[in-house]
Amino acid sequence: MNMREKINRIVQKIENARITVSEHHIVKFIAVSKYSTTSDIRDVFNIGHRAFGENKVQDYIKKRDELDDIPIEWHFIGNLQKNKINKIIENKPFLLHSLDSLELAEALNSRLEANGIFLNALIQVNSSKEDSKSGFMSEETNEMYMAIKEKCPNIKLKGLMSIGALSDDEKKIKESFEITKRLFDDLKCENATICSMGMSRDYELAIKCGSNLLRIGSEIFS
Ligand SMILES: *Cc1c(COP(=O)(O)O)cnc(C)c1O
Repeated sequence: MNMREKINRIVQKIENARITVSEHHIVKFIAVSKYSTTSDIRDVFNIGHRAFGENKVQDYIKKRDELDDIPIEWHFIGNLQKNKINKIIENKPFLLHSLDSLELAEALNSRLEANGIFLNALIQVNSSKEDSKSGFMSEETNEMYMAIKEKCPNIKLKGLMSIGALSDDEKKIKESFEITKRLFDDLKCENATICSMGMSRDYELAIKCGSNLLRIGSEIFS
């Protein structure tokens, strides 16, 4: 399959899944380019796709640099260490998906404030309670969302991000998505509009559980 065929197939799968939720349920996807070269990214861009995501600061900056001649909407989706905050601020993404502690939010906020800029971000939820994953426990998510909103005015919270349970049991994956969706619904009154969940192996299920932003890597780039 060539790149155009791969993208078309994904768009069709997304369309089929989202229509089962509602005609009005709009779903967007980010091409997660961490497995790919900048030349692959250009191919996908030339097909008409604009949103790309990286999960490592080093790769994010390198690829952004090499592609600064085209208007990509960059997303940062990986774990952010505090010593890399400046690099992210200098290369501000369209959206940071992975705010996973109050400490990180406060450190980020103070540098944003010092630079007089704002950053769109999502709170990461560890809805499957896996030790290997970052993110807030679901029980503390709403409280932390409110705390960050209050203490970090230069961070513009837009919603939640979560990675589905790492399991072959579809029920478990679904359960983890449903937990995130419920938390997201509770935050709609706080202007949360983005529910980022669903990767190559589970995005159709994620859509059916209410996701409106997918992060698709391997199905595009491998
Ligand atoms: C790699 C990655 C993805 C994409 O995963 P695929 O299974 O390759 O689609 C999505 N979200 C995050 C946070 C990732 O690190």
